[in-house]
Amino acid sequence: MSAYDRPAPDAKTLRPRTQLVHGGTARSGFGETSEALFLTQGFVYNSAEQAAARFTGEDAGFQYSRFGNPTVAMFEERMALLEGAEAARATATGMAAVTTALMGQVKAGDHVIASRALFGSCLYVVQELLPRFGVESTLVDGHDLAQWKAALRPNTKTAFLESPTNPSLSVLDIAGIAQILHAGGATLVVDNVFATPMTQKPLELGADCVVYSATKHIDGQGRCLGGVILGSKAFIEEHIQVYLRQTGPSLSPFNAWVLLKSLETLPLRIAQQQESAGRIADFLAGAAKIARVYYPGRADHPQAELARRQMKGGATMVALEVKGGREEAFRFANALEIIKISNNLGDAKSLITHPSTTTHQRMTEEARLAAGITQGMLRLSVGLEDPEDLIDDLKRGLAAV
Ligand SMILES: *Cc1c(COP(=O)(O)O)cnc(C)c1O
Repeated sequence: MSAYDRPAPDAKTLRPRTQLVHGGTARSGFGETSEALFLTQGFVYNSAEQAAARFTGEDAGFQYSRFGNPTVAMFEERMALLEGAEAARATATGMAAVTTALMGQVKAGDHVIASRALFGSCLYVVQELLPRFGVESTLVDGHDLAQWKAALRPNTKTAFLESPTNPSLSVLDIAGIAQILHAGGATLVVDNVFATPMTQKPLELGADCVVYSATKHIDGQGRCLGGVILGSKAFIEEHIQVYLRQTGPSLSPFNAWVLLKSLETLPLRIAQQQESAGRIADFLAGAAKIARVYYPGRADHPQAELARRQMKGGATMVALEVKGGREEAFRFANALEIIKISNNLGDAKSLITHPSTTTHQRMTEEARLAAGITQGMLRLSVGLEDPEDLIDDLKRGLAAV
């Protein structure tokens, strides 16, 4: 302690954009302006007694970077402030976050419900991995509240959904689903990647846990993989903390530092990308060669009213259906010069993908059609370029169809 030390303001009292610049910052004795990167595996102790006290928890501090690291902790604290969660734990990838959020809650004999429209790897965890360990799972049409209710069993422990869904951008009633699950004694985990933390707050809608692939908008610049799990202090301590510590899908301090610095600009990036996505959705909706546009911010979206209630804007993803099926969709994508063909999303660079031959190629055509994924569908992740250049590029795509 120095005579010049002064306490930092309580970040909880600050507004979101200020929290994203200052929240969670823990300065070292050097007083660095930018958050420090603690690229270290372990920590040293002043005495054997202190080491012992650190392991019993009597002496607060870090022990080993698999359990916790100062840079990772700054990222976790800033994410918790952003989400309005009591606690957050970072993971190496989004899939590590999803797997931990589900596996951490269940044991053999339990039951899990999930919405059928899931990211491919999430579907694997629910449909194939959990059953291997004696946890049964039921997939439902996420829009149909009666199916959620009917799927509930006395041993239903938790449920999982994404909204908006990938790639059809369909919107599920998070509050309605949470209410049904809570009445049956189950928890709800929401994968909020497609909405982004700026546009939708699942915890406020009644979810017990929110997961992100930080690889997407949180990094937002295509550099590193990461994930985060958020919830109440009790939820994280009971289900997540020990599982993560003992199984080890920890976030690298370097990646945590990149993600932490990215949070400073997240509101600006999402606001710009969302505004551009809205303009692009309107442009595509007026194009004769496009059969259908799906954007949660448009009045013609199938769940437009629910999206307005649940989200602050339509977010950054647009799905479009090119007339003429796969052949014309490929022509459209191949004619683009600025928008890149890639299965990733949430990047500063606009990216387009053909889900039925890439991210969703493992599904049967029948299952794809049930999820609204046609051969003519393309999924566009709108980036930070000038929207006029993006519209010019899309015109090139349309001209090739
Ligand atoms: C990308 C993604 C994931 C997986 O994240 P990784 O960081 O790639 O492991 C999970 N859910 C959704 C909705 C995603 O878009």
